[in-house]
Amino acid sequence: MRNLEEKFDIAIIGGGPAGIMAGIRAGESGANVIIIEKNSILGKKLLLTGGGRCNITNAEFDIKRLISHYGKNGSFLYNAFFLFGPKEVISFFESKDVKLKVERGKRVFPADNKANTILKALISSLKKKKVKVLVDAEVHRLSCKDKKVKKIFLKNGGVILAQKYIITTGGLSYKETGSTGAGLRWAKQTNHKIEETSASLVPLKTRELWVKDLQGLALKNIKITVKLNNKKKIEKIGEILFTHFGLSGPIILGISKEIGEMLKKGEVKLVLDMKPGLEIRTLKRRIENDFYKQGNRLFKNSLNELFPKMIIPLIIDFSKIDPQKKVSEITKKEKSRLVEVIKNIEMTVDSLMGVELAIVTAGGVSLRDIDSKTMKSKIIDNLFFAGEIIDIDGPTGGFNLQASFSTGHLAGKSAAEELK
Ligand SMILES: Cc1cc2nc3c(=O)[nH]c(=O)nc-3n(C[C@H](O)[C@H](O)[C@H](O)COP(=O)(O)OP(=O)(O)OC[C@H]3O[C@@H](n4cnc5c(N)ncnc54)[C@H](O)[C@@H]3O)c2cc1C
Repeated sequence: MRNLEEKFDIAIIGGGPAGIMAGIRAGESGANVIIIEKNSILGKKLLLTGGGRCNITNAEFDIKRLISHYGKNGSFLYNAFFLFGPKEVISFFESKDVKLKVERGKRVFPADNKANTILKALISSLKKKKVKVLVDAEVHRLSCKDKKVKKIFLKNGGVILAQKYIITTGGLSYKETGSTGAGLRWAKQTNHKIEETSASLVPLKTRELWVKDLQGLALKNIKITVKLNNKKKIEKIGEILFTHFGLSGPIILGISKEIGEMLKKGEVKLVLDMKPGLEIRTLKRRIENDFYKQGNRLFKNSLNELFPKMIIPLIIDFSKIDPQKKVSEITKKEKSRLVEVIKNIEMTVDSLMGVELAIVTAGGVSLRDIDSKTMKSKIIDNLFFAGEIIDIDGPTGGFNLQASFSTGHLAGKSAAEELK
């Protein structure tokens, strides 16, 4: 499309969940809509979500309770959720023959555990609504005059004109999926306030080097105690994941924002209790029974029923018990030390990983500059924003995709309704 000018009613920049949903809703009104995406496919990040399983929403149908998950900015989402909340997202996919299931914590997934099923349903909807999709097309800049976007220029030389423009270019995390912050730059250039961006839902880097040996190991039912300057601050039970630099997994991501704040105030330590369901006395008895049954077995081979293989060498090492010792010869004192180790593996947090590794970017286009009833900019007359680019972020559990679908839907509807 080099040097060609093409005209549309609505041009949407960014083909992630927010842009796609905006396209579907705008196309439904019969508008002539284009989605411009720089990757060769739509929804590159969507395919990574939920570990490839795509946690599309959270089955929290009470809007007030839903909003409470998004912190102080949550109430901005009221209109978007009222029109197209979790119930509507679920009906939308079910009406496209996508079977869904609800898991622990009301998290909604496609029944076949494939993010691609969700993407396919979205793309097929776009086709039905006759939305034009332009891939491998990076928007380079916007041209604005008299408080209006006039044109957008593509890197390949193409020019697109539209009556209304919707920016859905995402945040700053996982840049390889396309979200490199271009939309934030354009918003700033057009005088929108940008709230400081930071990592939300991000893994932790720890000082201990042994984590690298456990890379990829996911452990369920672990109790984590977070201490700031030796004072207990947070206690959580759930799933953790060891990475080559530290820790990730649902509970870690969920408390990462608070840990980020603590790191500004002093030393942050994590204490892992590997068996939170067993009190010290019960765990000791369990170990004594196990050792009694195993008699002549060597200590290094004796913990298989209690722990996954990968972590056993570490526990043996921390216990300072000779791995070649027969379990029948392990002393009372040594058993107590082993219990102590199992319930108190200490790690020191070095830092949060950067925004590039965050599941979502906090901050973005200020909500002060967007009308929550329409998603329209209060500064540029024919411009709308939706998705992660705006100053909204939620916890894990399907809340971020829901916010993208809802704001995208509202932006698409409002832009279409304003067409002359
Ligand atoms: C690993 C991972 C797992 C996640 N899992 C979940 C989950 O299970 N549930 C959940 O609710 N949330 C999850 N999230 C968060 C969720 O994926 C995002 O919040 C959501 O994708 C944001 O949607 P968006 O459309 O605003 O932006 P994106 O999905 O980032 O889409 C933006 C699009 O804009 C395009 N773009 C950018 N600049 C330009 C340009 N100049 N020209 C043309 N196109 C451009 C990009 O290429 C990209 O395709 C996860 C995130 C990550 C990283």
